[in-house]
Parts: sequence; C-alpha cells; structure tokens
Amino acid sequence: MVVHALFFLAFLVGMHGTHAVDYTVTNNALNTDGGVRFRDEIGEQYARQTLDSATQFIWGTFQQNNPDTRKNVNTISLFVDDIDGVAYTSNDQIHVSARYVKSYSGNVKTEITGVLYHEVTHVWQWNGNGQAPGGLIEGIADYVRLKANYAPSHWVKPGQGQKWDQGYDVTARFLDYCDSLKSGFVAELNNKLRSGYDVQFFVQLLGKTVDQLWQDYKAKYGNIA
Ligand SMILES: [Zn+2]
Repeated sequence: MVVHALFFLAFLVGMHGTHAVDYTVTNNALNTDGGVRFRDEIGEQYARQTLDSATQFIWGTFQQNNPDTRKNVNTISLFVDDIDGVAYTSNDQIHVSARYVKSYSGNVKTEITGVLYHEVTHVWQWNGNGQAPGGLIEGIADYVRLKANYAPSHWVKPGQGQKWDQGYDVTARFLDYCDSLKSGFVAELNNKLRSGYDVQFFVQLLGKTVDQLWQDYKAKYGNIA
C-alpha cells in the first residue's frame, strides 16, 4: 500500500516536471491605492490560483485534452502595474491596471477574476497566425469569460450589436449562439485558427456564411441585422 502510494507520488512529480504550467504574480504597484487594494481584496495567492483555474477551464472549453493541441506555454506571469486601461497580455505576460482596481466600484475580486479569464484566454487561444480579425480574438476571450459565469452585468444582451466581429461582449454572445447550433463550435473554430484564418470556417463548421448566421442570430431576438 505504502509502496503504491510512493509510486503514485513519483508519477505525479514526473507529470509535474513534464507538463505543468508555472504561474507567477508580481505586484509592482504596492505604492499606489490600487496596488494595495489588489493585495487586500484579491491577493497574490488567489490570483495565482485563478491563473491555474482559468487555464484548466480554457483547455476544457477548447477541448484540448491532448497537450499536442495546445500552445506550448511554460509560464504565465501576472503583473499589477500602475498603468491606464484595464489589462493587456503579450508574450504570456498579463498586465492588470492598478488604477482600474482602485476605481472599480463593486466586487473587485469577481471583476478581476473575469478579467483574468479573458486575458488567460489570450495566452492559450490560436490567432490564425495573426490573420484572424481582432474582434474575433476579443470575442473568443469574452466567450470564455461568459461560459465561466464571469460576464459583468453591463454587457450587451443576446441579440444586440451591429456586426458579428464587433468584438468583446457582442461577438461573445454571437459565438455563444453559434455554439448552441453545434456544441463544440468555438473549440473547433479555435483549433482551425492554429494555422490561419478564413471566413469560410463558419461555412465549414455550420453550413452557413457568417453573414447569414449573424442575420439568423439577430432575427432570433427580434432584431434586424
Ligand atoms: Zn482582450
């Protein structure tokens, strides 16, 4: 029994060495109100856990059970910085604005959790070798946030928006409609984005052009496209 447990432990340690992702959190804004609020109301340990839970959720949403289908990322780093805006991600590094943390009225822990699900999606999603529309990239990131139940109340309602690739909440709601037509649509779309982008991906996956899908989506909610 003990021997078995030891072997299992060795197996887990081995797995860790091969596949695990490391997460780091650095608060560079402790000399500001927002940095202090981040420390007191969110905390570095919770933030690190959230980077991990978001990663697991994204792999699940993208149906990437096999590591070969995922991007090769060893470390995701989060920085709390004294910067404008909300947050941005580049090179597997997420930067959250301490000024935004300071000014947010409401449950800042829940809000930043949602922001992190969006930003961690940028780390893992494929972008069609840079060819995918920016609105689609942002829409997929907000789609993940939506499916994780961290959509803020100020988002557009289903059926709202002017065009399918408007981005963010508008595109997230549209992608959710597309996924309702064929479960796993967003996962398949993301996997197609591994090697490039073609607007015909929508036809290939759903049998209709994206413009037709957008019209159908608007009509479903009584709106005109
Ligand atoms: Zn984004």
